[in-house]
Amino acid sequence: MGKKAQLKRLQKQRSSVLRRMIKPSDNRLKTADRSQKQKKKNANSDEQKVIERPQGSSAMFFQYNTQLGPPYHILVDTNFVNFSIKNKLDIIKTMMDCLYAKCIPYITDCVVAELEKLGQKYKLALRIIKDPRFERLHCMHRGTYADDCLVQRVSQHKCYIVATNDKDLKRRIRKIPGVPIMNVALNRYVIERMPDAFEPMAKK
Ligand SMILES: [Zn+2]
Repeated sequence: MGKKAQLKRLQKQRSSVLRRMIKPSDNRLKTADRSQKQKKKNANSDEQKVIERPQGSSAMFFQYNTQLGPPYHILVDTNFVNFSIKNKLDIIKTMMDCLYAKCIPYITDCVVAELEKLGQKYKLALRIIKDPRFERLHCMHRGTYADDCLVQRVSQHKCYIVATNDKDLKRRIRKIPGVPIMNVALNRYVIERMPDAFEPMAKK
């Protein structure tokens, strides 16, 4: 092999090494010099920087809900009423025994409709929730499915505690920060996710 050919090969090798060292994303390169693919990638990464998040509630001070009572506003679910009757618990009195404060139970139109649908056996439940101490909340939505209604209410207004024994509903409520859950135990109510300051009282 001639000297000239050897030199040429060496030069070729060197330039390929150099080419390998400069990345297409290197900032020494001007935009016009960049490959089309690289430009597209950059544009995409700019777009990805915009992340939309739902606005947090102003009632939340980090994880602490400042709007919670007393008096406590408690959204009551259909099965909570039924479980309470089954365990012979007076709803308002047992709530107060649980939280050591005034409690106002709230019944939505759709919960009433759900109880009405259940028929004669639940007549007692209907009579109990028509007690004037139960506040009535009117629904704007269609249908009688109460779960969605309750979830929507607690996402909008942070002043409520949700009283339910329904596993699915509890799972959904747990995803919303600042909403405690009350459920029926054997002969009392237990509260879940209450802010720390109130917890020692609720545990007794
Ligand atoms: Zn409703």
